[in-house]
Amino acid sequence: MYGFGLAKGLMVTLKNFIRPPFTIQYPEERIPQHPRFRGEEFAWYEERCTGCASCAKYCPLGIIKIVTSEGGRSPQEGGHYDIDVFDIDIGRCMFCGLCVEACPYDALFMGSGFERGRYERQDLVITVDELREAVKKPSTWFRPQLEDSGYDPHKDSALDWRAVGREKWEWHQREKAGARIKFRPARVGDKTQEGDGEARS
Ligand code: SF4
Ligand code: SF4
Repeated sequence: MYGFGLAKGLMVTLKNFIRPPFTIQYPEERIPQHPRFRGEEFAWYEERCTGCASCAKYCPLGIIKIVTSEGGRSPQEGGHYDIDVFDIDIGRCMFCGLCVEACPYDALFMGSGFERGRYERQDLVITVDELREAVKKPSTWFRPQLEDSGYDPHKDSALDWRAVGREKWEWHQREKAGARIKFRPARVGDKTQEGDGEARS
């Protein structure tokens, strides 16, 4: 019928005219992110890290650089590596998360942020010092233990290394990287303080 197509087209226009907008006024407004969101800053727990470099080997782009040296603190027990360099060139990262999947000790997590605008590409490299100092709000992606606990990095406080693993932190104290360095003060809100002490050396 003549004019029916025109009316149909106008109905689409009218429908979209009254529909609420999809766009938001960023940065004043932000879309809430899922706890499993794979963000850009990474959460790295040195206390859990053995320096095995599995994460670097599995990164398909080769953008993780790890340099270790002999810790030399407990040679009779095999010793532990010191992490001298742990750089991630986030400017080339595709957030596949393979590095996180590859980490056997739950030492590396995707982050939960998405705002790292820089003028120079070299400023996009996350250095070991930055990883050490960062407030650690790990993404729950590929970490069912965090997801099961209901942790939300966008709402909850930062997590200490003892709170993020699949096994109890005492296991790390005896067996792995937890014995490698002195404990740091737990962050505010951390309830796993009991048993604190100095790592064996
Ligand atoms: S998320 Fe993927 S690309 Fe980025 S550092 Fe990890 S393995 Fe490499
Ligand atoms: S973050 Fe994990 S995979 Fe990477 S060096 Fe440390 S323990 Fe190994």
